[in-house]
Amino acid sequence: MGCFMDGMEASIEEADGTVGRLIKEELSRQRTQIELIASENFVPASILEAMGSVLTNKYAEGYPHKKYYGGCEYVEQIEEIAIERAKALFGADHANVQPHSGSTANQAAYFSVMRPGDTMLSMRLDHGGHLSHGHPINFTGKMYKIAAYGVNAETETIDYDDLARLARESRPKVIVAGASAYPRSIDFKRFREIADETGAILITDMAHIAGLVAGGAHENPAPYSDFVTSTTHKTLRGPRGAFVLCKDGFAQDLDRTVFPGIQGGPLLPAIAGKAICFKLASEPRFKEYARQVVKNASALAGALQERGFRLVSGGTDNHMMLVDLRPKALTGKAAERLLHEAGITSNKNAIPFDPEKPMVTSGLRFGTAAVTTRGMTENEMTVIADAIDGVLSAPDDAALRKATRSKMTDLCLAYPLYKNL
Ligand SMILES: *Cc1c(COP(=O)(O)O)cnc(C)c1O
Repeated sequence: MGCFMDGMEASIEEADGTVGRLIKEELSRQRTQIELIASENFVPASILEAMGSVLTNKYAEGYPHKKYYGGCEYVEQIEEIAIERAKALFGADHANVQPHSGSTANQAAYFSVMRPGDTMLSMRLDHGGHLSHGHPINFTGKMYKIAAYGVNAETETIDYDDLARLARESRPKVIVAGASAYPRSIDFKRFREIADETGAILITDMAHIAGLVAGGAHENPAPYSDFVTSTTHKTLRGPRGAFVLCKDGFAQDLDRTVFPGIQGGPLLPAIAGKAICFKLASEPRFKEYARQVVKNASALAGALQERGFRLVSGGTDNHMMLVDLRPKALTGKAAERLLHEAGITSNKNAIPFDPEKPMVTSGLRFGTAAVTTRGMTENEMTVIADAIDGVLSAPDDAALRKATRSKMTDLCLAYPLYKNL
């Protein structure tokens, strides 16, 4: 009797000790390592709660008030709130908050306006673009003709004149603005002008900078773009997920493309997390956060430069920087491993015109979204720059890495994370 409820109230530790232990260890890792991966952040406890909620039990295919399932009276209110908040936060005509990930959000925008064989003009992956902007192994590279723009070899910033030339030559159906590894502000007005001149649709992928945009620390692409795609889990500090904004004229096509075009039921825990995220990002505190993320990036970049590191484009305007390790005679792969041993998490990244293979690279990418969430400011950025410099200047010094690791743990414990977990 009632045997199917057996174990329903068990904790993770009781139900599955192995996974329970690994989650605990991951929490401890997050608490004690300096997180410099530019695409990561720590969500507020309220969003963790939403992500672990009973919303996971519910199916809600379709859109608010046009759902294909019964019992959607509460979840459709949550989705409507998320939609309205996304529109208000970014000043958009229309929002779809169902895409499961950034790549899927891009797929939705592309499928809304492109047919196989159409031309897409997007940023080269090895100059900072994203896989979903035309990599040969990605669906984009297989379905579309890709014309790619990059950065100028001298300035290492987007060459807008060359972009305009490429657009005139290739007459793309779509131009994609936005990047995963580009440390400078993007001139969306210029992108709009080039799209208008050549009759292209402008899709801006703001996945990395969405939090800076929401907090007023980067120009908003929404007024200039036909579509804006974004993740919610990077600088925006929301749940792992994504959304798409568009002008009114594309709204119906976009919604049909997301569902039933490429997805089934939406992930309601993530949609609730997005609703909370958009609310928090509209508060004055978030403006301060975004401003501090940029200040911290600029402090970390400056401190690294003072210690002799070369940064791609000579610095940063946003939350991230790319370090060129060639003068240090290190690869990105080796440097990532050395820093990891020293309690600093980052990722190897290609730099423009990188002579090394993608799995090796000559660069490291650092971002300050996560350390800023912990409350760290410019002083801590100097401490971290010192640690990076020490470790990368003495790749054979295992004792220094061990000492640095314990220093980084102490620094982290001074800025505690998830006190109630
Ligand atoms: C992170 C990122 C994405 C992809 O997001 P996923 O959720 O990992 O699919 C797309 N575009 C850009 C520019 C990104 O930086």
